[in-house]
Amino acid sequence: MAKSSIPGCSPLTVKISSMLEAALQERCRVTGSTPDHVVQEALSRLLEVEHHTLFQVSTATALVQGVYQGCVTVGMIKRHGDFGLGTYDALDGEGLMLDGHVWHAKADGSVVEASDSETAPFWVSAEFKADRTAVLSSVTDWNDLCAQLDGLRRSPNLFAAIRLDGRFDRITYRVACKAAAGTSLVEATSHQAEFGLDEIDGTLLGFWSPAYARNFNVPGYHLHLLSKDRRRGGHVLGIRGRNLSVQVMDANNLAVALPQSGAFLKADLSQDPTAALSKAEGAGAKST
Ligand SMILES: [Zn+2]
Repeated sequence: MAKSSIPGCSPLTVKISSMLEAALQERCRVTGSTPDHVVQEALSRLLEVEHHTLFQVSTATALVQGVYQGCVTVGMIKRHGDFGLGTYDALDGEGLMLDGHVWHAKADGSVVEASDSETAPFWVSAEFKADRTAVLSSVTDWNDLCAQLDGLRRSPNLFAAIRLDGRFDRITYRVACKAAAGTSLVEATSHQAEFGLDEIDGTLLGFWSPAYARNFNVPGYHLHLLSKDRRRGGHVLGIRGRNLSVQVMDANNLAVALPQSGAFLKADLSQDPTAALSKAEGAGAKST
């Protein structure tokens, strides 16, 4: 396999039989995949590494309904990936997971590494391995970013994990404030803390979810910022930047852990959360 410049990937040289090599080439020819991709998928299955799987805690509708009680520990979340986002017990800030470390962005603007005993009422994580990469030479605002990322996804019907690294000319983000159980997400985020940074190095990490998954996850792009110095972070509202490195991972498996106690069991989760999610989680309105 060719040496890869993708962060987190290592070159591997192995000897395989000519029969296997022919089969590998045929698979690549038929599917359009690279040898790296086919070998990585085969090894992932053999070694039971959940590549292309999203692990999710609770549902977006439950969050909209004010089910904020933490139900899965950070320690447990780390077993299901090295990359992801979420929030903490009582909607206390924003969660960020990057390269296996989990961070807690707080409403006062600070960021600390989360302890394994902290709990999350909502989280999405993945074992991040890029399927494709690109450089975005110019991003003028949130909608422009979304349009460019659209071209890097395989299908509107698959989930995707997305990572962007670089220097952001301007970025605006929010951090959710602690809320009482039962307070709707729209109400809780109506007095969120909002921040803006200029010329900041960092990473945007998150997911794209299909519209049909609206009851489980936030439809469209959902990205959190973690600054390179790990001192700033939150839920992205607006962005402007240049020369941003993008990595996209397709995700075609979804594992969902549902809370088995507390308010989740009694909440009315039959409603369509689209409007509330758009209001509470939507980016773009604060484009820079
Ligand atoms: Zn968020």
